[in-house]
Amino acid sequence: MTSSARPADPAGTAARPPLNRRLAEFGTTIFAEMSALALRTGSINLGQGFPDTDGPEEIREAAVRALRDGRGNQYPPGPGVPELRAAVTAHQLRRYGLTFDPDTEVLVTAGATEAIAAALLGLLEPGDEVVALEPYYDSYAACIAMAGGRRVPVTLRPHEGRFRLDLDELRAAVTDRTRLLLINTPHNPTGTVLTRAELTAIAELAVERDLLVVTDEVYEHLVFDDAEHLPLATFPGMRDRTVTIGSAGKTFSFTGWKVGWVTAAPALVSAVRSAKQYLTYVASGPFQYAVAEALALPDSYFDAFRADMRAKRDVLAAGLTDAGFDVFTTAGTYFITTDIRPLGETDGFAFCRALPERAGVVAIPNAVFYDHREAGAPFVRFAFCKRADVLEEAAKRLKSLSV
Ligand code: PMP
Ligand code: GLN
Repeated sequence: MTSSARPADPAGTAARPPLNRRLAEFGTTIFAEMSALALRTGSINLGQGFPDTDGPEEIREAAVRALRDGRGNQYPPGPGVPELRAAVTAHQLRRYGLTFDPDTEVLVTAGATEAIAAALLGLLEPGDEVVALEPYYDSYAACIAMAGGRRVPVTLRPHEGRFRLDLDELRAAVTDRTRLLLINTPHNPTGTVLTRAELTAIAELAVERDLLVVTDEVYEHLVFDDAEHLPLATFPGMRDRTVTIGSAGKTFSFTGWKVGWVTAAPALVSAVRSAKQYLTYVASGPFQYAVAEALALPDSYFDAFRADMRAKRDVLAAGLTDAGFDVFTTAGTYFITTDIRPLGETDGFAFCRALPERAGVVAIPNAVFYDHREAGAPFVRFAFCKRADVLEEAAKRLKSLSV
C-alpha cells in the first residue's frame, strides 16, 4: 500500500478496523459459527464435517507408541518423516499406479488446509486468476485472497439429481491471466464425484492452456455405489502439472490430528514447501508415524470404512427425504446437499440459523461456499459421518418441519 492510501491523521489510523482488506470479507468460518451454535443450543451437529467415532484403535495405539517411544516429539523433518513420505508414495502406487519419489515429490503438511494455503501462496503471483469450482470449500477463497490472487468461479449446477460441471463454462473462465485450476473431487459440499469425461476435459484444458492444477482429493476413499475416484494426476499430461492434496483426517477419522500431504513434481513440491516452511514449518510429529501405518492398512479397512459411510448416507438421505427435503445424490464425501424449497423455504442462511430452535439440528447453508450467493441460496448441507442412532434422531427431529 502506498503511504498516500493511509489516513494522515493518527486518529484515523486508530479508527481503521484491524482486519486487513484481503480478509475482511471472510469473517468467522461457517464451521466455527455453526458448531458453536450446536453447542449453545444442545442441537445435533450435522454441520461441521467430523466423525463422532474415532478411527481404528490400532492406529490410535500407533500414535501412543510413537509418543512413548519419543518419535516425533521434537520437530520432525521439514518435508515430513520418511516413514510417512514412503507410505504416501506406496499408497499412490497401490491405489492409482502413480509413482512418486518420497524424497522430492512428497510434502507432509498440517492437514489439507495447510497444503491448500501453501500451494496457493507458493504458486500464485498477485493478480493471477484461479479458476475454481463453485460452491467451494471455504478456505479456498480465503487462501486465494491471502495469496493476492483473483478467484474465478465456475458454478456446478444441479442436473438430474447431481451437481454437474458445465465444460463450456469452464473453458470460458480461462483467460491469459489464469495461473491454475483449483479442483475438488469428491466435492464438498455437493457430494459430486467428477466423472471421467469431466476430468478428461479438465485435463485437456490444462494441457492446452498450460495451466497448473491443484486438486483437493481429501475424500478419495469416500466414493459410493458405482462412482470411482480418478486422480487428476493420472490423466494424460497431468502428472507434472498437478499438485494433489490428501489428508488423513477424512480417510482415518482423526480430523484433529491434522496430517495432510502433497504429491507433485519436484519443482511444484519445492514451491509449496517454500511457503509451508514459513506457515507451520512442521506439525503433528507423532501422528505422522501413526498415519504412515494407517496408509498401509489392508484394502479391507478402506472397504469397510466406505461401506459404513454408505450405510450412514442412506440413513440420512432417507430421513431427509421423509422430512420433505429434495435430496441430491451423494456419490462421494460425507455430506448430503439438499434443496429446501419443497419445505416452502428459499433462504438457506435463515433456515440454518433457525433450525436449532425449530428442530434441534445444525446444518450448513451452502450459500457461504458461493460467490454467486443466489445460486446457492436454497441449498443446505448435512454431514452424515455420525453414529446411525444420531442420524436417526436427527431425521426424527427434522420430520417435525413438514408436519
Ligand atoms: N478440503 C476439503 C474439501 C475439506 O472438506 C476439508 C475439511 N474437511 C479440508 C480440505 C481440510 O482438511 P484437513 O482437516 O486435513 O485440514
Ligand atoms: N472440512 C470440514 C467441513 O467441510 C470442516 C473443517 C473445518 O472446520 N475447517 O465440514
